[in-house]
Amino acid sequence: MKPEVVVVGSYVQDLTWRCASFPRPGETVVGSFVSGPGGKGSNQAVAAARAGAATAFVGAVGDDAFGAEAKRFYRSERIPARFAVKPRHATGTAGILVNGAGQNEIVVALGANAALARRDVDPRLLAGARVVVTQLEANLATAAHVLASAVRAGALAVLNPAPMRPDFEVRMLRHVDVLIPNETEFAALVNRVPATGRRDFTEGELASLAPADLHALCGRLGVPVVIVTLGDRGCLVSRASGYTRIPAFPVKAVDTTGAGDAFVGGFAAGLVRSDGDIEEAARYGSAVAALSVTRFGTAPAMPSAREAAALLRRAAR
Ligand code: ADP
Repeated sequence: MKPEVVVVGSYVQDLTWRCASFPRPGETVVGSFVSGPGGKGSNQAVAAARAGAATAFVGAVGDDAFGAEAKRFYRSERIPARFAVKPRHATGTAGILVNGAGQNEIVVALGANAALARRDVDPRLLAGARVVVTQLEANLATAAHVLASAVRAGALAVLNPAPMRPDFEVRMLRHVDVLIPNETEFAALVNRVPATGRRDFTEGELASLAPADLHALCGRLGVPVVIVTLGDRGCLVSRASGYTRIPAFPVKAVDTTGAGDAFVGGFAAGLVRSDGDIEEAARYGSAVAALSVTRFGTAPAMPSAREAAALLRRAAR
């Protein structure tokens, strides 16, 4: 099947330790351990595929056990993946500590992700896609190349500017059709883009902005569509013709890690399902994200298309 959605980005092996309280410097505590597939790019690809879109993932891993696990995981999910193997780098890893209060502390080593190169991305894959999605967790020059190639090929170029990095260049936004930041990333972007006239914008200020003012600020980023995700307050879809507030679906959240990835993947799948209807796709992304927060984990928590459709039907009653 020809991929309609192509996600280019990071694969990271999540190594998660749960403990009652975080160890202090020099201290050892006893906890429990789980390991699983993660990384923003990979999570988004899994979300899009499970949400019903023919999806391909392009990423980089090392020549090691975690790299082999990544390939096994993609085979088991039946998602076509092109993994560039970087023998001089380790597969990306995240060491995640979660304490009894559900707080976390995370160290990410990008490893092979940082070496993902332009030549690792088959131009034919991008040319055949309807939606191309990337983030900032792998190689920035490659992400910029992917966005420009997607636009040239007539695909919709979607950027999730996560994680925001000091070396992010604003001119990357020139080749973005849809920008999907969360609150932290949006505040950072406002301070980086000169046209906003702001350098001291805070997340706190964002939380107290009226939707019309948030929409006006989105318009200054110079991207046709900006979708700001607002956690359990839903999201705001902003485009030149106006804005739409989409509330979050009321669910019992147990683990909100990866909610943004679920939203982005679900949005991409929603774009294909709705034949390019941005609001409908954002609603679909919200449903996918809402279901994902009702389960533990990131990629393993992504829901199926059937589950997302059922949630949308229940909400419409
Ligand atoms: P990130 O994970 O990148 O910080 P957000 O927290 O903004 O992203 O969440 C992304 C989307 O996930 C939101 O726009 C919303 O649709 C959905 N979401 C997040 N938290 C919840 C929640 N508690 N209940 C329902 N939906 C949620």
